Amino acid sequence: MKIAIIGIGSVGSAVATAVKNTGLAHEIVLYDTDGVRARAAAEDLGHAAAFSFDIKITAASNYRAIRGSEIVIISAGANQKPGETRMDLLHKNAAVIRDIVPRVMANVDNKNVKLVIVTNPLDVMVMLAQKLSKLPAARVIGTGTMLDSARLRVILSRTLSVSPQSVNAYVLGEHGDSSIVAWNCATIGAIGLKDFCKQTKTPMTDTTRATIEHRVHTAAYEIIRGRGATWDGIAGAVADLVRSIANDENRILTVSAVDGVGAKAIAMSMPRIVGAGGATKMLVPQMDKNESSGLRRSGNIIRKNFDNIGK
Ligand code: NAD
Repeated sequence: MKIAIIGIGSVGSAVATAVKNTGLAHEIVLYDTDGVRARAAAEDLGHAAAFSFDIKITAASNYRAIRGSEIVIISAGANQKPGETRMDLLHKNAAVIRDIVPRVMANVDNKNVKLVIVTNPLDVMVMLAQKLSKLPAARVIGTGTMLDSARLRVILSRTLSVSPQSVNAYVLGEHGDSSIVAWNCATIGAIGLKDFCKQTKTPMTDTTRATIEHRVHTAAYEIIRGRGATWDGIAGAVADLVRSIANDENRILTVSAVDGVGAKAIAMSMPRIVGAGGATKMLVPQMDKNESSGLRRSGNIIRKNFDNIGK
């Protein structure tokens, strides 16, 4: 499979490494408006590939080089500076998506290509990319709350002393400050979270849950404060998403995709079945009243910001 990555900054470079390491691509093309940066990344990654897979890694000087790509990952654009929210990037990165998507679409097979959106504010960028590309909603997929859900699973796994692999817990809604934790449907192995805590005598009070939710919401801010940006977690999420598409695994991932039409359309993260056709089916877990109203609020914030960026 040929995969293109547009935007080779901290995130794009880490994504390229993680995607290379899946062994699923025979060719990776890197494009960035900073051609020197893209060429240097392709060189470095090509050297690393000599230790692993037989894979062609090139830097593109123009969009013609992405022809034949089945997956195009867009990780270009401004990142958050300390103290900035993802929504603060709205207008800057809408201009970046407006620049990139038409050029991508002029060079790929629109019957087959899947766009994977990483640029923030994620859900609004998914809506914009879907509108500009005119692709079916299932094939414009944002990494959404895959990363937030991973953060939640890791925090819960440490609290409960079980592997994150055994924690089925989801963050839904915006990939941003209004996301919600779907506590009501969280399970540990085959057992509901509440029951698990009872059986293992692990206290899980409202305060504990609020603290965990707060840590999930502030994780990116903490990492940005410490190392200037985040890249490893998102790279893991993109590689996982690429794997599910490339192998047609039909895994359930909390990705973002447009649902609904016209003025009611919203992209936000829900559990979705992801395979070769993209994010084909959305699933709605059982939520309590607070979770449902939090999710509606999150959707309204995304829609309002999409309306803000104009046509
Ligand atoms: P960065 O500044 O390190 O890199 C951005 C790159 O994009 C630069 O190399 C720049 O030259 C390139 N670029 C800008 N405009 C372009 C255009 N029109 N065409 C092609 N390339 C262009 O930033 P980063 O840390 O790599 O972050 C990239 C994006 O990923 C940001 O929007 C950030 O918020 C987002 N991000 C998303 C998640 C997530 O979970 N979805 C996680 C981390 C970062």
